[in-house]
Amino acid sequence: MNSKIIDGKELAAKIRGEIKLRAEAFKAKRGRSVGLAVVLAGDDPASKIYVRNKIAACEEASIRSYSYDFPEEVSEDAVTELIDALNKDTNVDGILVQLPLPKHINEKCVLERISPCKDVDGFHAVNAGNLLLGNKCLAACTPQGCIELIRSTGVTIEGKNAVVIGRSNIVGKPMAVLLLQNNATVTVAHSKTVDLKSITLRADILVAAVGIKEFVTGDMIKSGAVVIDVGMNRHDGKLYGDVNFEEAKIKAGFITPVPGGVGPMTIAMLLRNTVTAAENA
Ligand code: NAP
Repeated sequence: MNSKIIDGKELAAKIRGEIKLRAEAFKAKRGRSVGLAVVLAGDDPASKIYVRNKIAACEEASIRSYSYDFPEEVSEDAVTELIDALNKDTNVDGILVQLPLPKHINEKCVLERISPCKDVDGFHAVNAGNLLLGNKCLAACTPQGCIELIRSTGVTIEGKNAVVIGRSNIVGKPMAVLLLQNNATVTVAHSKTVDLKSITLRADILVAAVGIKEFVTGDMIKSGAVVIDVGMNRHDGKLYGDVNFEEAKIKAGFITPVPGGVGPMTIAMLLRNTVTAAENA
């Protein structure tokens, strides 16, 4: 079998088009643009690329972005003072703090300082808790993007065995919750999981969010499965997923490429959360 490649770029472009219409309607109604504040601290080259891409996507979707760049040695107080001001700023609907922050800054404290109504990354405990309870909330972007990618295949999630490899707060856990809400039977695997292969071989839907280059090999994949590769692992200037694409595409029914799969969808979901936050304000 040769799998169908799920084109995340194309799906993200379609969703960004819908978001643009919502952003324009918001402006017509409220007399101001939807606004996203983007906070960057330090010189991490990958973070700079991610921020640049997010700002460009905002412009294209008629969302106004406000950039705040701090040097590596910025104090935690300076960052939280800015967040306090952005929480009060009525032109700002969403606040994005690019991770990782410099090591001396407590990431958890900074993220919890963001008003849950403006937490467009969906990392705040209030949003994470509401997601778990099935309440209306701003859900984490990458898992939302993965759900859209799975839906785009036409494969129904309900009743399927879904396996998520990884249990981070920003990807693995919210991914498992969203799959559960879509009525999949969900297994979450992690570094202490025993006999991972026997678990992944039962997966009709397999989401890899491990952070290890080409960790998932072809022999771990059930024939015909939907494989979503969240991984972004940089080696010698090249980007690799968590799935060995060449092996996996022989076994899977559908598979996302890296790059061009989950990455563009994460940005599209960030924009969608931002417009939703504006409409809710
Ligand atoms: P993370 O916080 O490092 O979590 C990795 C998870 O993988 C952990 O739960 C860990 O288990 C598990 N794991 C590690 N080794 C394992 C093993 N041998 N067997 C099974 N599970 C194992 O990473 P993350 O933030 O979730 O990100 C995961 C990947 O997605 C990274 O490559 C990241 O760059 C990428 N990412 C991509 C996007 C995007 O937009 N495309 C967005 C976010 C992240 P323990 O909990 O037991 O340690």
